[in-house]
Amino acid sequence: MKEFQVVLITGGAGYIGSHAVQEARNYGFEPVTYDNLSMGHRWAIQGEFVKGDLGDRPKLLKAFRKYQPAAVMHFASHTYVGESVTHPQKYYRDNLTNALNLFSVMLERKVSHFILSSTCAVYGDPVQVPIPEDHPRNPVNPYGDSKMMLEKILAWYDRAYGLRSTFLRYFNAAGADASGRLGEAHDPETHLIPLVLDSAMGRRKEITIFGQDYPTPDGTCIRDYIHVTDLAGAHFLALKLMMETGQSDFFNLGTGKGFSVREVITKAEEVTGKRIPVRMGPRRAGDPPELVAQSDKARAALGWQPRHSSLENILKTAWAWHRNYFGGKAKTSRRSTVRSRQ
Ligand code: UDP
Repeated sequence: MKEFQVVLITGGAGYIGSHAVQEARNYGFEPVTYDNLSMGHRWAIQGEFVKGDLGDRPKLLKAFRKYQPAAVMHFASHTYVGESVTHPQKYYRDNLTNALNLFSVMLERKVSHFILSSTCAVYGDPVQVPIPEDHPRNPVNPYGDSKMMLEKILAWYDRAYGLRSTFLRYFNAAGADASGRLGEAHDPETHLIPLVLDSAMGRRKEITIFGQDYPTPDGTCIRDYIHVTDLAGAHFLALKLMMETGQSDFFNLGTGKGFSVREVITKAEEVTGKRIPVRMGPRRAGDPPELVAQSDKARAALGWQPRHSSLENILKTAWAWHRNYFGGKAKTSRRSTVRSRQ
């Protein structure tokens, strides 16, 4: 029987990375998590694990020698838009220089397939919605800028060194794995859906809606929510395609359908059966009114279908996870299943 090809997954203990680890074998790949656990969680780790920093070149080299990955998926990253504006140094230093270090190890070890966690934040304030992949990149915060810079660097590395890469531009990742073992647990939490569920659970008094005077039907911002399991699966489809064609590429990962903040809250009340107290607040700086993906390219080229991404399923899986994790009902299910570590 054919051996599974190894994929090194940086940030494999984080929200999206851990779901990628979970999905890897379904697509014929063997995941190895590389994570410094600064943001990730020990309970989220499955399978082979190396605790290491991306700035630690000897550690990285050792991991590459040991596991001989055929490809790298790079999830390890700072992702708070607001923080990136007030603390850009952190975003450029870590998101850029650590990735450069990773690329140099890949080149040394002749690993030439790379999947980048990119973001719709590379588009900035969209001039066209749904947003196509060839929309101009004009990020309006250091987070999106650092990702765009990586995309540009990788395009040059492709030409010069043959390092093939696929950029996956995520819209709003949400939901949780159906097993209930994995889910979203950021600290601090800033995302709409977990905060809404916190309010449904009574862990916070209310949810503040950031702005109700946007040029949208109900005045609140519209986003394209994509289930994290669908997101994770797309990485392996993209990797397979890149390995077949030998070509670098880039894709939006969104459903193509947007929901307003109010629609999310209403649906969350339906799914949880709880009333969710709402407060109106001012707009949050840097929020465009509407971010919705044109998602045809990923569907056509990757044969990708966002099967888990109905708003109802996103909220149901997130709610099951949220109650389990924050309700502290099933602590044992959060045990890690780490097999080895360096
Ligand atoms: N949002 C909100 N209240 C909150 C958190 C978020 O109204 O407490 C809004 C936010 O302004 C945006 C949408 O919910 O329009 C999604 O925000 P989130 O932070 O989840 O993701 P982002 O779109 O910033 O990546």
